[in-house]
Amino acid sequence: MTEAALPPRSAIAHEDTWNAESVFESPAAWDAEQQALPAAIEAMARHQGHLADGPEALLSAFQDIDVLYGRVGKLLTYALMAHHVDTTDQDASRRYGQSQGLYAQMAGRLGFFDPELLAIGQDRLNEWMQAEPPLAVNAHYIHDLFRRQAHVRSAEVEQLLGALADPFAGPHTTANYLTNADLTYRPAQAADGAELPMSVAALDKILGEADRAARRTAWESYLDAHLAFKNTLASNLATSIKQNVFSARARQYGSSLEAALFVDNLPVAVFHNLIDTFRSHLPTWQRYWAVRRRALGVDSLQPYDVWAPLTTRRPTLDYPQAVDMICAGLAPLGETYVSTLRRGCLEERWIDKYANQGKTDSQFSAGWQGTHPFILIRFEGDLGGMSTMAHELGHSMHSYFTWANQPMIYSQYSLFAAEVASNFNQAMVRAHLLAQNPDRDFELSVIDEAMSNFHRYFFIMPTLARFELETHQRVERGQGLTADDMIELMADLFAEAFGPAVHFDRQRMGMTWATFGHLYSDYYVYQYATGISGANALARRILLGTPGAAEAYLEFLKAGGSLYPLDALKRAGVDLTTPKPVEDTFEVLSGLVDRLEKLFPEQSIAPK
Ligand SMILES: [Zn+2]
Repeated sequence: MTEAALPPRSAIAHEDTWNAESVFESPAAWDAEQQALPAAIEAMARHQGHLADGPEALLSAFQDIDVLYGRVGKLLTYALMAHHVDTTDQDASRRYGQSQGLYAQMAGRLGFFDPELLAIGQDRLNEWMQAEPPLAVNAHYIHDLFRRQAHVRSAEVEQLLGALADPFAGPHTTANYLTNADLTYRPAQAADGAELPMSVAALDKILGEADRAARRTAWESYLDAHLAFKNTLASNLATSIKQNVFSARARQYGSSLEAALFVDNLPVAVFHNLIDTFRSHLPTWQRYWAVRRRALGVDSLQPYDVWAPLTTRRPTLDYPQAVDMICAGLAPLGETYVSTLRRGCLEERWIDKYANQGKTDSQFSAGWQGTHPFILIRFEGDLGGMSTMAHELGHSMHSYFTWANQPMIYSQYSLFAAEVASNFNQAMVRAHLLAQNPDRDFELSVIDEAMSNFHRYFFIMPTLARFELETHQRVERGQGLTADDMIELMADLFAEAFGPAVHFDRQRMGMTWATFGHLYSDYYVYQYATGISGANALARRILLGTPGAAEAYLEFLKAGGSLYPLDALKRAGVDLTTPKPVEDTFEVLSGLVDRLEKLFPEQSIAPK
């Protein structure tokens, strides 16, 4: 639906909106809190210079900060919610800006905290935590602070590095402007010759449709627009990579990869293990491309055929049916999990369900300890929308259990852990739907949804991660990185991954790196693939009936940020430093391909 055809926000039924009034009862209540907070933030000055006074003084500072975080977070959550459901609402966008300003003000006011803790010293802090037991809950935070200290330089160097953050943001901003605002696309052409206007949103839609001529011309138009700026885009990305290498060296890391993974205390083995295991299982993907080629009845499969529907008779479902499907899939986690989720979806209004004019395109979960875990989606009544909802509910349930079991200081968790919880729900729901002996169209629709998700996060993302590793290593070795170098490298990586069943134009396919703004967040995308791996491995344990597996999974959700992500996941029963979870995920993938091969058997030669 085009934006203009959508209802205005004011026309959306109350029960289909999320429960913003549970955060603040009115904008006026929000305004009052917004005016009270600056004084509360300034009041933190009373702790400055006093953390070393003793364990009681330190405990009181930790407690006051928790309360302040809770208040600022609630303010931010309400403003974020109002802004994203109607980005044209000027009052909402002003409030959103104000809340971000207050958050920054709080962070600045509390800038003394970590340096004072470090000055007290780890040994003395350990003694204090024994002397004052309520202080001991902060042990992980303190451990992490001293761990990170290994790469903190002198005050003068840190000041200089800190000042680089803004100028170093340039390449990402430039890429955004170029690819989201300045690039224009020639129209695509439908099979009947009609011109189709092209934009990024139009591309996604056209690639999911049956008209192959439209898919081809849309894909070509999209990549040709990027190719026209290949030198600018390559120089821009190379600059970003050089900045990452510079920052890693300035902070004395062995490599930019090591620096990126250090944040979450992850060994580089996690990354190498993912891409090595991915590479060795590429034949599973290649089996899929071959059966997809047969299913679509094309001579040679092209990259623009990867999203084409395997059936046009796709099931529709309404919101309550989607909730039922998700709950049925997650039943093995037990009554508490399922009834909490159901209540959130049907009674407590966690979810803002449908599209309206001005509502943001991105679908996400949000919230703060002390609020509901909220979700924004644009549900359109299909399996893909149901699966997105299951994904976001995975994040929300992670937050729900974390907030119910952890103090404020551990109320947030890393993306590395988060993407396990979200993908886990999708894995469980898909397994449930496929176990129901569905009819052919339903089965095809479920597999199509699953494969399209796996394609993005378990095929493209690991391939991009390989691209990132190679480009960073070239810079680290002092080699150049031109547009043609990047195009060649990307084309080679995709040629290896696609294998013999897929044919493509090397220039266009080689240019796809430029379409992923993610590459400006250093070594970010691999976490989607580790997330999907951890998720499918854990779902498999539960579906196979491993004793204690569901309980262990819930313990992972409850841990929040109180453990390093790898340790939290080990408690759940999965070790992402080993190939096992990636192999388990390929098992799931392989099972889906088996089903497709049964549905689209190779043409048998008729007996004479
Ligand atoms: Zn997610």
